Amino acid sequence: MKLLLTGHGYKYAVEQIMLMLFPEERPEYVEGTAELTNTAAAVSLSRGNTYDTATTRLYYGGAVYTGIARRRRCEGSPLEVDRVLQRLIKTAFFRAAVRATGKKPVWGALTGIRPGKIATALLEEGRTEKAVLKTLSTEYYLAPDRAALCLDTARAGLQAAQTLGERDIALYIGIPFCPTRCHYCSFVSHSVEKSMALIPPFLEALHREIDADALSVRKLDLNVVSVYIGGGTPTTLSAEQLESLLKHLAQAFNLSRLREFTVEAGRPDTITPEKLSALKTGGVGRVSVNPQSLCDDVLRAIGRRHTAQEAVSAMHLAREIGFDCVNMDLIAGLPGDTVETFRRSLDTVLSLRPENVTVHTLSLKKGARITLEQTPLPSGDEVGAMLDYAAEKLRAGGYGPYYLYRQKFTSGGFENVGWSLPGFDSLYNILIMEELRTVIALGGGGVTKLVAPKIGRIERIFNAKYPHEYIKGIDGLIAKKSGIETFYHQFIDR
Ligand code: SF4
Repeated sequence: MKLLLTGHGYKYAVEQIMLMLFPEERPEYVEGTAELTNTAAAVSLSRGNTYDTATTRLYYGGAVYTGIARRRRCEGSPLEVDRVLQRLIKTAFFRAAVRATGKKPVWGALTGIRPGKIATALLEEGRTEKAVLKTLSTEYYLAPDRAALCLDTARAGLQAAQTLGERDIALYIGIPFCPTRCHYCSFVSHSVEKSMALIPPFLEALHREIDADALSVRKLDLNVVSVYIGGGTPTTLSAEQLESLLKHLAQAFNLSRLREFTVEAGRPDTITPEKLSALKTGGVGRVSVNPQSLCDDVLRAIGRRHTAQEAVSAMHLAREIGFDCVNMDLIAGLPGDTVETFRRSLDTVLSLRPENVTVHTLSLKKGARITLEQTPLPSGDEVGAMLDYAAEKLRAGGYGPYYLYRQKFTSGGFENVGWSLPGFDSLYNILIMEELRTVIALGGGGVTKLVAPKIGRIERIFNAKYPHEYIKGIDGLIAKKSGIETFYHQFIDR
C-alpha cells in the first residue's frame, strides 16, 4: 500500500494498523499526493493549540474514504505524547478502513501482540471491570467477546502477579530440533534426519550454559519458580538424553521453590513411554501434546508424520504415566481444514479433558512452506467461525481464558488463547505474556528477558538460533550472560 505521511514520522504505528487491517499489503512510502492511486493512504497529523488531530484519506476501490480522530492537545512527557499521537493515528486509519471495507475487525483499532496489557493497566488504575469493558469497546472498538477475553486474561495475570515474590524467575530451555519441519513453520528447528550428529555437542554446550546461569542465579539469590522446556520439539531427544538434561538441571539450579515444570512433548510422533517416564521421574509435571489438528487430511497437508489417532494415544499415554496436567494445542486456519473438521478436532480434544487447551490462529510466516507455495487456506471468516466455536465450547466445558497474544500475518487478524480448567493456569505462559518477572532463556533460539517490575525496565539477551551457531558461540554467549548479574545490580538491587 502506498503511504504518504504528513506532519509526523510515526511509520511503525501506521504500518502496524495497516498490516492488521490489510494483511496482504506491504508499506511503500511516497512523497506526494500525485502518487496516491488505488489502495493507498494519506496519513496526516496536526498539533493545534487546543487539539491534536489525525486524518487518514484512504484510496480504495475507486473511491476515497476519510477517517478523523481528535482529542485535546496532549501536554504530557515526550513518551506520553508519542503514545497518544500514535493511538490517534491508528484510530483515524481504522475509521477510514471501516468505511472503505465495510468490515469491522473483532480487534478494532488495537494493534500489538499483548492486547491484555491495556486491560491490566486499566484495572491497576482502579477502573471497574465494567468500565474496562466499556473503554475497550468505545475507545478501541473491540468486539464484546474480545473485550471479555482481554478482561479475563488481565484478571488471571493480576492474580498470578500477587503470588510472585520479587526474586522469583522462570527458566526457558530451547531444544531446536524437530523430526521434520511442519509446512506452516519457520521456526529454526533442525530436522533430526539432517542434524542428528549435532544433538550431543548441542547438549554439551547447553550443560555449560546451565552451569553458568545457575551460578548467577545462586549469586543473585533468585528463586526459580517455573521451568519450561520448549523448542523445536524437546522430545526429539532420546529418553537417556532427556534424563541426563533433567538431572543436570536439578543439580545446577535449586529447584526447591519450583511451582511448575513443563516440557513440550509437541509432536506425538516423538512421544514414547520411555521418554514420558524419564520426564516424570525428572520432576516434570506438565506436558504439552500438540496435534494442531485431529483430522488426518490436515495433518498430511501440514507435513506431520502422525495420525490423529496417534495424537490421541499419546495423550492417553501421558495420563497412564501419571501426568495430571496436560496441554493440547490446536491451530485454526490450517490448509485443508474446514469449520466442520476443526469442530470435530476440538470436540475430540475436549473429550480427552486436557487441563489446558491452547487455540492458535495460523500465522503466515515468511519462510514457511505454505507461504512460499501459496497453499490455499481457509478464509478469515472461516477461521473466525472456528475460533467462535472453540470459545463457546471451551467456556461451556468449564475452561477459562488465562493468557492471550496476537501475531502478525494471522488469518483474519485473530488471536492465540490459552484456556485452562480452574486451578491449572500455566504460570510460565502468564509470566512471559504479562512480562511479570525475569525469564532466563537457555539453549537454541531463546531470548532472556530481564524484568525490573517496579521501574518497568526490560532488557533482552538473545541466544543463537541455529544449533551449530549456538555450539560454536557458547563461550561468547556465556560471557554475554554476565549481563544478568549486571542488570540485577543496576536496576533491582540498587
Ligand atoms: S513441531 Fe513446532 S517447531 Fe517443530 S517444525 Fe513443527 S511447528 Fe516447527
